[in-house]
Amino acid sequence: MNDRIAVLGAGQMGNGIAHVFAQAGFPVSLIDVSKDALAKARDTIGRNIDRQVKKGALQAGDREAILGRISDHDSLDAVSDATIVIEAATEQKELKFRIFSDIDRLAPAGAILATNTSSISITEIAGRTQRPQQVIGMHFMNPVPVMQLVEVIRGLATSDAVMQQTIELAKAVGKTPVEANDYPGFIANRILMPMINEAMFCLMEGVGTAESIDTVMKLGMNHPMGPLALADFIGLDTCLAILEVLHQGLGDPKYRPCPLLRKYVAQGWMGKKSGRGIYEYTK
Ligand code: NAD
Repeated sequence: MNDRIAVLGAGQMGNGIAHVFAQAGFPVSLIDVSKDALAKARDTIGRNIDRQVKKGALQAGDREAILGRISDHDSLDAVSDATIVIEAATEQKELKFRIFSDIDRLAPAGAILATNTSSISITEIAGRTQRPQQVIGMHFMNPVPVMQLVEVIRGLATSDAVMQQTIELAKAVGKTPVEANDYPGFIANRILMPMINEAMFCLMEGVGTAESIDTVMKLGMNHPMGPLALADFIGLDTCLAILEVLHQGLGDPKYRPCPLLRKYVAQGWMGKKSGRGIYEYTK
């Protein structure tokens, strides 16, 4: 494949997406409005490569080659030579709508515009562009270098050719693609978020402590991580944003976000990335 990748958003997901594409040999333009986020992303990718080298999954010499394939940019203009744009900016509808209308203008006519959104409608995002047949969901899991799954989500107008190309692309970076249709939360978050929300209700009502809720799900259900620790890992702001989409999009009160989750987000306790969420994280 001769694709050139642009990854938009250098946060938790964007740095992982840039990492796996660069590791598979693709040139990657990593774009973020925040120079800090770009510097942090490069640092994180370097540390994750070091871990892979320690495990024997990569050679020490691969480090510079992988990082060398990633160029950093603070302007959207960097999508101008991409064949595939993967957007991984903050989970906010209006922001993603604006980004897609901008990249539709700036990216080459043939480029696929993919979004890593966790829940926002691919069809609505595609509607902000003049090329809805080339817009698709490419939903990586966190942490991207480790997790096998990519949910590939077809919007109403997504073409079969773009679906096929995206599936091949996911395979080219060693992932397992699974097709989903465009309904709020797709498959992964339609099922995961109600569980996380229910865990928050259990915490709010004092059914158990955070530790006991997580331990029940780990030891009782064989989950590798408890739902509250997982929520911290995803980001409580992202969890809340996804629940809002499920609640609005499906119109069922069973998806109403737990008031305690709202409170944590209002306080700025976003989870691991901010140092404090349900649990506290020291550097
Ligand atoms: P994050 O908060 O870690 O990073 C978001 C990044 O987007 C930030 O660096 C921010 O500076 C950047 N950004 C904001 N506005 C921008 C703009 N206009 N142009 C370029 N960059 C901009 O968030 P994240 O956890 O990486 O999530 C990113 C996307 O991935 C969201 O859509 C989220 O729903 C999705 N996602 C998240 C997870 C997860 O576990 N966190 C899993 C799968 C998918």
